[in-house]
Amino acid sequence: MAIMTSSPTYLPVLERVAEEIGHTPGRGRSADYIPALAARDARAFGMAVAELDGTVYGVGDWREPFSAQSITKVFTLALDLAREGDELWEHVGREPSGNPFNSLVQLEYENGIPRNPFINAGALVVTDRLQTRTGDAAGELLGFLRAESGNPELDFDEEVAASETVNGDRNAALAHFMASYGNIDNPVPVLLEQYFRQCSITASCADLALATRFLARHGLRADGTRLLASRQAKQVNAVMLTCGTYDAAGDFAYRVGLPGKSGVGGGIIAVVPGRCALCVWSPGLDERGNSVAGVAALDRFTTLTDLSVF
Ligand code: GLU
Repeated sequence: MAIMTSSPTYLPVLERVAEEIGHTPGRGRSADYIPALAARDARAFGMAVAELDGTVYGVGDWREPFSAQSITKVFTLALDLAREGDELWEHVGREPSGNPFNSLVQLEYENGIPRNPFINAGALVVTDRLQTRTGDAAGELLGFLRAESGNPELDFDEEVAASETVNGDRNAALAHFMASYGNIDNPVPVLLEQYFRQCSITASCADLALATRFLARHGLRADGTRLLASRQAKQVNAVMLTCGTYDAAGDFAYRVGLPGKSGVGGGIIAVVPGRCALCVWSPGLDERGNSVAGVAALDRFTTLTDLSVF
């Protein structure tokens, strides 16, 4: 059953999308590189919309917490960009990689400068820089998400963070490799701990749609203060559109037509600049790592509302 707080402009659309998704057979497979993700039912589905004024509503499992994983890369990017501005772009690029999210190959050709902030190498650079500036990158991120969602109970999942560490050889390799080019400031173990805690944050579609709202509000936070200049919010949205859905960003832009960022927990956030922020969750992933039902639901949403940016 759908619940809302006030004027639910898009609720009828969400209800229709949920009904259509309910009839879609074949939902992909839950990520299985760590046990906590493998245990999630691939058929779970929730979707939430947060409007500019903070009105939030949804359908299905929209209040069910899930592992945010790579969705958090958007927020660390925004938090670091707010602090250091354009200097960040000297340390991480903003081009699609055309490679899997955890690839090492390109880094060597490109002298330890990752293609973009949403592949793991790029996210490690961003977290490293935020760590240098704040002394507690993951804590900074958690504080931001709690404030924007209005949910003080958001937290790290220590079990997920520990499993990420046990399975973290490739991320460790990426971090060490970039350190060898001088593109990492902090000791690699410190950086990895921050990064894995960041990935482990558990939040619902409602929480993440609310937290993404600042990108629909051209950089304005929930309390009316400014995190990003309008042009920086545009930059983050542009990088989401071109690089936010692993090696399938072209297909996502083609089908959905919105800035979006997915994570292996099955969540996807999306932004309709000047209108609303969305989050959809369904753990079954396609071979590229994007939620099958999540992409389908966003595809239907923009088709039914004509709200794509194009
Ligand atoms: N914790 C995962 C990793 O770095 C994040 C995966 C993802 O959501 O893309 O391997």
